[in-house]
Amino acid sequence: MPERFDAIIIGAGQAGPSLAQRLTREGLRTALIERHLFGGTCVNTGCIPTKTLVASARAAHMARRAADYGVVLDGPVKVDMKKVKARKDVVSGESNENVTKWLEGMRNLEIYRGHARFEGSHSVRVNDAVLEAEKIFINVGARASVPDMPGLNQVDYLNNSSMMAVDFLPEHLVIIGGSYIGLEFAQMYRRFGSRVTVVEKGEGLIARDDEDVSGAVSRILEAEGIEVRLNAACVAMEKRGDGRISVRLDCETGDREVTGTHLLLAMGRRPNTDDLGLEQAGIAVNDRGFIVVDDALRTNVPGVWALGEANGRGAFTHTSYNDFEIVAANLFDNDPRKVTDRILCYALFIDPPLGRVGMTEREVRASGRSALIGKMPMARVGRARERGETQGFMKVLADAETDRLLGAAILGMNGDEVVHSLLDLMYADAPYTVMQRAVHIHPTVTELLPTLLGDLKPLE
Ligand SMILES: Cc1cc2nc3c(=O)[nH]c(=O)nc-3n(C[C@H](O)[C@H](O)[C@H](O)COP(=O)(O)OP(=O)(O)OC[C@H]3O[C@@H](n4cnc5c(N)ncnc54)[C@H](O)[C@@H]3O)c2cc1C
Repeated sequence: MPERFDAIIIGAGQAGPSLAQRLTREGLRTALIERHLFGGTCVNTGCIPTKTLVASARAAHMARRAADYGVVLDGPVKVDMKKVKARKDVVSGESNENVTKWLEGMRNLEIYRGHARFEGSHSVRVNDAVLEAEKIFINVGARASVPDMPGLNQVDYLNNSSMMAVDFLPEHLVIIGGSYIGLEFAQMYRRFGSRVTVVEKGEGLIARDDEDVSGAVSRILEAEGIEVRLNAACVAMEKRGDGRISVRLDCETGDREVTGTHLLLAMGRRPNTDDLGLEQAGIAVNDRGFIVVDDALRTNVPGVWALGEANGRGAFTHTSYNDFEIVAANLFDNDPRKVTDRILCYALFIDPPLGRVGMTEREVRASGRSALIGKMPMARVGRARERGETQGFMKVLADAETDRLLGAAILGMNGDEVVHSLLDLMYADAPYTVMQRAVHIHPTVTELLPTLLGDLKPLE
């Protein structure tokens, strides 16, 4: 006999647990199904553990730079990878424990551990149980893509999940994929002491961003000794007799082969929708497997919603959490929040970080609108000079007719934080002149923003 609930949530990622709390508080008897770890990617194999590792890598980097600040450390800097991993495990483990306890303590919530699969539009199988509900919420996330490449099945390779178990220093880490995940691992392992090569098939790193941003990121990484191979598509992999992994490249310049001791694939993510039985439920997906949703995150099947990465409308923790807010507001608060109200924002957590909001310069140009642009090097920021961290720049774009900000990139010290001032101005739908006249605290990185906004020029 099927077990009846008011609501079923599949996946305890970044939307599921908060949604479970809201549904149960609203009096809905709810089932939550999770096949692996509570907290999903962000907590266990994504944001939290990687940013914890980035912090260790920065400590090593700053220790090496100690003499620049007049601080004397005797002897070479050593990194204890077992301790680095142990620290990461503690921080990530605490987050996992917190979500687990939170969920386990929820009244009105029944937790099922196992893989969920639809058997009909409103029925889901997990292990031996069949659950039914009028409302079903899918929060199944995504996993690392594994490309179809000759020889890949002959070699050992790592992805963001298996990297979490690494407690040793790879001698030479070859990373395929020069986007966000690949670059964070690249700098981190270089700072731990590995030789690192990043292989990217496109013309630049972080291809969705502007060329000046991408170029500056390359220079920052190369200055630390990371080898960056652009315009280099991998065509085959091979395990050599000495245990090394050789990656053959299709490229016009540089060696046609890169050989390393370890290989990390960071070539994008694919949604966990292929083994969910969506066809049994008649839930539509697009050609890349993402669940098709409307602006309120409803699928084509009434009473079924899709939240988080699996709906293809955002690939971040903050977008997944915002999906929860949108669904809850529409269901319970008579507040018609929608996905298209969201302003794009994200960060690349290399050091210095890149904070990005809204449109790129390329997109503004393509839109054909009349726009203003301002760009200043981080070397103009007093705080950055004092801290000896002057790499990068700030770039802001505004609409010349409405004076509204269109987008920004802040690559530099605290760029991941500073960019929020601009983001909030965009959410307030206020003209940039508001911030231009604001008095910011000295000495901070944000204090350059009014100056930058006072110096906007027509985008030619
Ligand atoms: C290395 C790395 C670093 C990242 N860093 C950042 C960052 O700094 N900032 C940021 O915003 N984002 C970052 N991200 C992205 C972020 O982690 C994800 O966008 C976010 O976790 C997606 O959340 P979600 O709610 O969609 O699903 P997830 O967090 O992926 O959770 C989905 C859950 O569903 C479960 N599940 C899947 N299928 C089933 C099934 N059939 N039955 C039962 N359970 C199922 C999974 O086990 C999982 O627990 C990073 C990602 C990676 C890989």
